[in-house]
Amino acid sequence: MLHNRFSSSEIKAASQDWTTQNTPMKKYTADINSIFGELTYSLEVMEEKLPKNVFKSLLATIDRGEPLDPTVADAVALGMKEWAIEHGATHYTHWFQPLTGTTAEKHDSFITPNKGGGAMAKFSGKELIQGEPDASSFPSGGLRATFEARGYTAWDPTSPAFIVKNHHGATLCIPTAFASWTGEALDHKTPLLRSIEALNSSSLEALELFGIEDATKVFSTVGTEQEYFLVDEEYFYRRPDLIATGRTLFGTQPPRGQEMDDHYFGSIPERILAYMADVEYQMYRQGIPVQTRHNEVAPGQYEFAPLFEHANIACDHQQMIMQTMKNTARKYGLVCLLHEKPFAGINGSGKHNNWSMATDSGINLLEPGDTPHSNKLFLFFCTAVIKAVHENQDLLRVACASAGNDHRLGANEAPPAIMSIFLGDQLEDVYNQLEKGTASKSKKSGLLGLGSQVLPPLPRHSGDRNRTSPFAFTGNKFEFRAVGSDQTVSFTNVVLNTIAAQAIKELTADLRAALKKAKTFDKALETVLSNAIKAHKSILFGGDGYSDDWTKEAAKRGLLNLRTSPDAFAEFKAKKNLDLFKSHKVFNRREVIARQEIMFEQYSQTLTIEADCMANMARKHIMPNAVSYMKELVNTVVAAQATGIHASGIAETAETLNELITTFKTELDTLADAKNNIPDGDIEKQAMYIRDEVVPAMHKLRITGDLIEKLVPKNLWDLPSYEEMLFIK
Ligand code: ADP
Ligand code: MG
Repeated sequence: MLHNRFSSSEIKAASQDWTTQNTPMKKYTADINSIFGELTYSLEVMEEKLPKNVFKSLLATIDRGEPLDPTVADAVALGMKEWAIEHGATHYTHWFQPLTGTTAEKHDSFITPNKGGGAMAKFSGKELIQGEPDASSFPSGGLRATFEARGYTAWDPTSPAFIVKNHHGATLCIPTAFASWTGEALDHKTPLLRSIEALNSSSLEALELFGIEDATKVFSTVGTEQEYFLVDEEYFYRRPDLIATGRTLFGTQPPRGQEMDDHYFGSIPERILAYMADVEYQMYRQGIPVQTRHNEVAPGQYEFAPLFEHANIACDHQQMIMQTMKNTARKYGLVCLLHEKPFAGINGSGKHNNWSMATDSGINLLEPGDTPHSNKLFLFFCTAVIKAVHENQDLLRVACASAGNDHRLGANEAPPAIMSIFLGDQLEDVYNQLEKGTASKSKKSGLLGLGSQVLPPLPRHSGDRNRTSPFAFTGNKFEFRAVGSDQTVSFTNVVLNTIAAQAIKELTADLRAALKKAKTFDKALETVLSNAIKAHKSILFGGDGYSDDWTKEAAKRGLLNLRTSPDAFAEFKAKKNLDLFKSHKVFNRREVIARQEIMFEQYSQTLTIEADCMANMARKHIMPNAVSYMKELVNTVVAAQATGIHASGIAETAETLNELITTFKTELDTLADAKNNIPDGDIEKQAMYIRDEVVPAMHKLRITGDLIEKLVPKNLWDLPSYEEMLFIK
C-alpha cells in the first residue's frame, strides 16, 4: 500500500530502521503486580522504612491533613534517601508545576563533603521540606518583583515521591508546591490543594445534615483521557512549524483515503504498540494506573487513559504521563505531539477530565446507586454540580481556554464554547419529576416523595451517550470534555472543586433553612432540589451541541458563549469570581490578577511565535518552492515555443501559480504589518488585537500557501506533507 504512494527513500526515512527485533519490548510484558509502584515511595515502603511513631505522625498529615510535625521530617528524609539510593538515585529534585503548564525540576546531588575531605550522600529533613529554586525565570504575573525574586518549594506529603530513571541514572522527584516568599501561589498545585480543602469542608457540612458520620474527608476524584499524535521524527525535524509551535502552520489535507475511516477501529501498528507498551511500563513502575490505550479518530492519533485517583495525585500523574509520553517517543524515532490541533482539517486532540466526589469512607457522591437513601445523597450532590456549572459557565470556559484549544472548541469535533450539561434520559426524567414539585406529588398520594418509592433506581451506567456535550454525566461521574490535550488539568480541577464547594455550601444553607419549616427531611430536601432545578435547568441540554440551532437556543436561554480564549480570560477577574475564590481561600485577588495576566501573556506569546514562524516558512520554504516551479514552467514555455510547440497548459499553470504567488506575497506583508503593529502596554488589549488582526492574517496566508502546495510537484516541495506525517507509522 505505502509502496505505491511514497518513494522508497521516504519510507526508509520514516521507518528509521525500526524493527521489532532488538527492542526491549519483551521486557515490558512484565507482571503488573510485581512492578506496579516499585518506583514510588508509597505508604507501604514508608511503613517498612520509617520508625513506627514517625510513620504514624506522617500518616496523620497525609490522611487527616494535620500539620506536619517538623521533627518527623529528618526521619522521613533519611528513609527516603536510603530507598532512593537503593534504586540508583544520585540526585533529588523538588518537582513542581509552575504556571508555564509544564513541570519544573532543579536537580541537587545527594553528595555532601565530609570532614575527611571525602564525600557522602546526605539529605536532611530541611532539604525534603523546603527548596529555593530561582523563581525569577518562572511566570508570576507580577506577583514577584525581581528584587524579591525568591520563591520556595514546599513538600507535598500527600503525593508520593517517585524515581525517574534515564540513561544517566536516576533522580528522586519530590512533589512540591511552589509559592512566592510572600506566600502567594506561583504554581498549580497550591490552589488545587486549597480547592480540595474547600470542597472537603463544604461537603462535610452537607453530609452531617444527611446523618452521615463515618466520613471524615471528602475529596474529588479525577480520571483523564489524553489524546495525542505520533509523527516520525524525520518529518518533525523537517517541519520548522512543528519544531517551534507543535502544530503545522501550513499543509494541504490528504485526499480523504480509506485510512481515515480505518484508523479508529484499526489495529495498532507495531512501532506504535511498542511505544505504548514502553510508556505503560514506565507508568506502572511509577504507580500510575494507565488503563486504556487505543487509536483515536484521526490517522496518527491515539489515546491513553489512566484509572481515576484522588485529584491531587491524578493531576501530578497527568503531568508525569505527558512528560513520559514525550520523552519515550524519541526512543522509537517518533515525536509525540500534544498540541490541540497539530493538523488543520484533521481531528484535534482533547483531554477529558472525569470528575467526581468521594468520601474517605468509600462513598462516591455521584454514584446514583439503587437505594433511596443514597439516591437522596446523590441528587443533592448532582444538583449542586448542575447549579455550579450554571452559575460558573465563565470559569469553566476559562479552565479550557488556550490559543491551541481555540482551534477545537466549537469546530465540530469538540464541544462548543457554550457550557451545558448532558444528563441522559434517566436523570433528565428524574429532574423533570422533581421540577414539577410538591403539588403533583400530593395528588399522586406521596408517590413522588423524594428519595422514596417514586424515584426509579438509577442504573449504574446511563445507556445513552452524547458526544457533543462539554459536560456530561457518565454513569457515576461528570466528564468535562472541553479541556485541551496540552493543558494541565490541575487548573481545571481547581475550578471544578471550587465551584462545587460553593454550590454545595449554598444548597446546604438552603436545606438547613428548609428543615426549619418542613415536617420531614425528605420534604425539605425536595423543596430545595425542586427550587434549584427550576433555577438552573436552562444549563441542561441533551441535543446536538455541534449544531447551529443550539447556538441560537443557548443565546435565548441566556447561556454564555465566550467564543475565544481572550473573551474567557477577561471574565476571570469578574467580581463574582474574585469573591468566590477569596471566600474559599483558593486565590486571593492578587493571585487571580496575576494568573489572568499570565493567561493573556501566554496566549499572545504563542500566537506571535506562530506568526513569526509562519512568515519565516513563507519566505524560506513556500516562496522559494513556488519560485522554483515557476522557473521550470516559464523555461519550459520558452523552450517549447522555440521548437514551435504551443505549450498553453504549461503557460496557464504558470499564470495560476503567478497569481497565487502575488496574493501570497501581499498576504505575507499584511501578516508582517499586523504583527509589527501589536500595541504596546495593556496585555488584554494586545491579546484582543492579536486575535482580531494577526490570527485572521495567518488564516488567509495559510489558505494561499496550501493552494500553492497543491500545485507544486513533490520534488520541488521541501516540506513533509500531511500524507507522510499522518500515514507513515
Ligand atoms: P470514555 O467512554 O469517555 O472513553 P473511558 O471509559 O475511556 O470513557 O474513561 C473513563 C474515565 O473515567 C477513566 O479515566 C476512569 O478512570 C474515569 N472514572 C471512572 N470513575 C470515576 C470517578 N468516580 N471519578 C473520576 N473519574 C472516574
Ligand atoms: Mg471520555
